[in-house]
Amino acid sequence: MIRLHDTMARKKRDFVPLNPERITMYVCGPTVYGRAHIGNARPAVVFDTLARLIRHEFGADRLVYARNVTDVDDKIIAAAEAEGVEPAVITERYERFYLEDMGALGVAAPDIAPRATHEIAPMVTMIARLVELGHAYEAEGHVLFSVPSDPDYGVLSRRDREQMIAGARVEVAPYKRDPADFVLWKPSADGVIGWDSPWGRGRPGWHIECSAMIRAHLGETIDIHGGGLDLIFPHHENEIAQSRCAHQGAPLANFWVHNGFLDMGAEKMSKSLGNVVTPNELLAQGHKGETLRLALLSAHYRQPLPWTDGLIAQSKATLDRLYRAAGDADPGEIDVGVVEALSDDLNTPLALSRLSAIDDGATLRASAQLLGLLGESEESWFKGGGDSGDIEARIAERTAAKASRDFATADRIREELKAEGILLEDGPGGTTWRRG
Ligand SMILES: [Zn+2]
Repeated sequence: MIRLHDTMARKKRDFVPLNPERITMYVCGPTVYGRAHIGNARPAVVFDTLARLIRHEFGADRLVYARNVTDVDDKIIAAAEAEGVEPAVITERYERFYLEDMGALGVAAPDIAPRATHEIAPMVTMIARLVELGHAYEAEGHVLFSVPSDPDYGVLSRRDREQMIAGARVEVAPYKRDPADFVLWKPSADGVIGWDSPWGRGRPGWHIECSAMIRAHLGETIDIHGGGLDLIFPHHENEIAQSRCAHQGAPLANFWVHNGFLDMGAEKMSKSLGNVVTPNELLAQGHKGETLRLALLSAHYRQPLPWTDGLIAQSKATLDRLYRAAGDADPGEIDVGVVEALSDDLNTPLALSRLSAIDDGATLRASAQLLGLLGESEESWFKGGGDSGDIEARIAERTAAKASRDFATADRIREELKAEGILLEDGPGGTTWRRG
């Protein structure tokens, strides 16, 4: 039995899927206007590990895991204007980088990765429904969600009204009926990305994106909704209000699972504080993707994780020891103790300590792979270079070179990889590689 901490209940609960044939999980994905930092990688790795555990427990094809891509946003519009390009140039570049960086950390692509710009119709439908039911109103080309129309608003974050208004840092706008009301749709000026709607040409707010995509791809009520702690308020609170009000009170998710932050010294790692380090930089420094993954899993996902050079070095040493212990064994049976540790609210520190105590190579390798570790052979791990994390990092470097029209560098990286027996193939979904 898997037990998960549910933010809504404020406690651990037994995970019983609504439909064990089709378990649904949604995690709020990246807004693609810049390179992801290692703190952004934590939810990707945590929910990838949870997905592996659910597939192990219920069957590989029983989970539908969706992670969206926010590809329309004011920060994207600003980045596109700064470079003098269309927003799609920015979003395609950074979505590709995101997938490369997460791939290097052993994060499998989700089953569904809906892009906001492809899902405008379900958003408009949901907004229209909220207007019709009296939960939203139109004002000066905007559509706003009416917070006072929802008596249950605040159920997840349990904030009082003053805290909510302060925490949401909402714009005070004359067209708002209530300061807590939030935007579902906003007008787009000429020359700014937008779509026609019953309220004029405009674009969606961020919160409605997730509610509408969950409804379109997974259903009214899903099993697990995940994301970072910082999303509890206002983002997830707003998702809940929109979805519940549009769906006759059906809850949006059965479990709310939130991961803690990475700390840099005494501060949270964040773009606005300027103290970020990216997986791409760490990989370019020669760290392997699995080392970074193990470092991210070394603390319990709900706890803060202090990110230091010492942690990376220690994670590398742990992996060296595990690779030596596993030797050239193929994966065998998965250790029950490791599954039990993960099943207790994804207790990865306990699972890692149990891994270290396994002496049978085949059991060790299979159990480590449940956490996305020991994916290489012992030989390739110790040979250095040529492992998948390193290859992904060099592919990312080549993609960046191509994007900035530095074809000499792009060709040099291709030739270097070829010399090591790694063949690249460029396709519409990005660059893939194989050993030739
Ligand atoms: Zn979301």
